[in-house]
Amino acid sequence: MSAIYVHIPFCKQKCKYCDFNSYAGLAAFHQPYVNALLTEIASQADCYGAFGTVGSIYIGGGTPTLLEPSYIASIITSLKGRFAITPDAEISIEANPETVTYEKLAVLRESGVNRLSIGFQSLDDDLLTLLGRKHSAQQAVDAFNAARRAGFDNINIDLIFGVPGQMLANWALNFEQAAALEPEHLSCYGLTVEPGTALECEITTGALAMPDEDMQADMFAYTMESLEESGYGHYEISNYAKPGKECRHNLVYWDNRDYIGFGAGAHSRIGNKRFANTAKPTDYIETAGTDLFKPEEIELSIDDEMSEMLFLGFRKMEGVNLEAFASRFGCSVQDIYGAQIEGLLDDGLIESKNGLLRLTPRGIFIGNEVFSRFV
Ligand code: SF4
Repeated sequence: MSAIYVHIPFCKQKCKYCDFNSYAGLAAFHQPYVNALLTEIASQADCYGAFGTVGSIYIGGGTPTLLEPSYIASIITSLKGRFAITPDAEISIEANPETVTYEKLAVLRESGVNRLSIGFQSLDDDLLTLLGRKHSAQQAVDAFNAARRAGFDNINIDLIFGVPGQMLANWALNFEQAAALEPEHLSCYGLTVEPGTALECEITTGALAMPDEDMQADMFAYTMESLEESGYGHYEISNYAKPGKECRHNLVYWDNRDYIGFGAGAHSRIGNKRFANTAKPTDYIETAGTDLFKPEEIELSIDDEMSEMLFLGFRKMEGVNLEAFASRFGCSVQDIYGAQIEGLLDDGLIESKNGLLRLTPRGIFIGNEVFSRFV
C-alpha cells in the first residue's frame, strides 16, 4: 500500500522554531496555489500510472486548515478521480487550533477527511508565546472538542517538550492535560534548534537557554512511561497510538514504501528514485503544468537504500527485520554493517531479538547517534 502527500505551505505566522517549507502572509496565493496543485495532480497522474493502491492521503504543511475547506475537498476529489484510493483510506489533515471552527471541521469530515492532527505543542500560554505560536491553550482544547463534535474519531495531538525554561513538572502537567482528552494518537517531540530560525537566534544571543540533556531525557522517559501505562503503544521514537490507530501514512515512510508528494517542496519516492518539487510556492504556481515543471530527480544507490532501510527501521520500536533486509538486498545486515552492529550492541544502544534489531531504551534517547552510524 502506497501513500500520497499534499503540501500546503501557508501559515498565519512563522513559529520561532520552525524550519519547514512554510510561509506567512501569502493569503493572496491560496487560490492560485490550489489551482496549481490540481494542475500538478492532473498532469502528473499519468506519469504515476502504475503507482498501485493508495491507502493514505496526508494533507500537511504549513497549515492546511488555513485554506477554505472547499479547496481541500477539491484536492481530495481530484486525487480520488486519478488514483486507486482504497475505500477505507486514511485521509489526514494537519490543523492549527486558531484556524478551525466546528463548521469548518464538519465540512472537512464531510469531504472524506477522517483523521485530524492538531498542533497543540503546549498547553501553557507562556510557552506557546515563547514558541511563537498563534493560539492559546484554551483554543487548542476547544479545537479538539469541536473536532469530536464534528465526528472525528481519529485525532492526533502534537506536543513539544524541552522548551527553554520548561521543567519536568510543567511538561508533566501539560502532557497530562492533553492525554486526558484521550486522543487516539500523540506525537511528542523534543524541541530542536534548527539553523536559521528565530529560536536559534535567541539561543545564540543568550536570550533563551535550552534545558540540559538530562532534563530532556527525563521528559522523554516520563512521556514513554505515562503513555504506555495509559494504553498507548509506543510504535515510533516520538509517536504513540491506541491499538490500531498508528498513523498509516508515517508507516509508509518508515517502512520504505512508495509515496507521491504534490505541492511546493513535496518529495516523492518511487522505487529507488526520489523526486523533489521546487520549494518556493510562487515558482511552483508559475510552473505547475508547464514544461518548466521539472522535479529534481535523484537515483539512490544500493548503499543508500540499505542505509535508509536501517535508519528508518530503527525509528520504529519493532526495529529492523533482518529477513526482510536479506530478501530485499540478497545479503545480511551483518555482511554490510557488521562492525557498526557489533559496536552498537556493545554500547547497549541496540538489541537483537526474534530476527529483529531494535533500539534499547537507552538507544531510544539518543536515536540520532544510532542513525548516524549508518549514513
Ligand atoms: S504552524 Fe507549523 S508549519 Fe507553520 S510555522 Fe508553525 S510549526 Fe511551522
